Amino acid sequence: MLLAKCPHCGTKTEFEGNEFRPFCSERCKLLDFGAWADEEYALPAETVELTEEDMAVLEHSAERGER
Ligand SMILES: [Zn+2]
Repeated sequence: MLLAKCPHCGTKTEFEGNEFRPFCSERCKLLDFGAWADEEYALPAETVELTEEDMAVLEHSAERGER
C-alpha cells in the first residue's frame, strides 16, 4: 500500500484509488486551492485567484469526478 502525505493537512492517505490525490480529501483539495488565492503558497509567474464562483465550479467538477 502506497501512502501519500496530504500537502494541506499532512494526513497520510492511500495513494491508489484516491481521486483527490495528492490530497486526502476533496475538502483539502478545495481548501488548498483557496490557499493559493490567499498567497499562502508563493507561486512564481502565475497568480491564482479564485472567486466564490470558481470554487463552486471546482466543487461541482469534483463531484462529477472530472479532473
Ligand atoms: Zn488533508
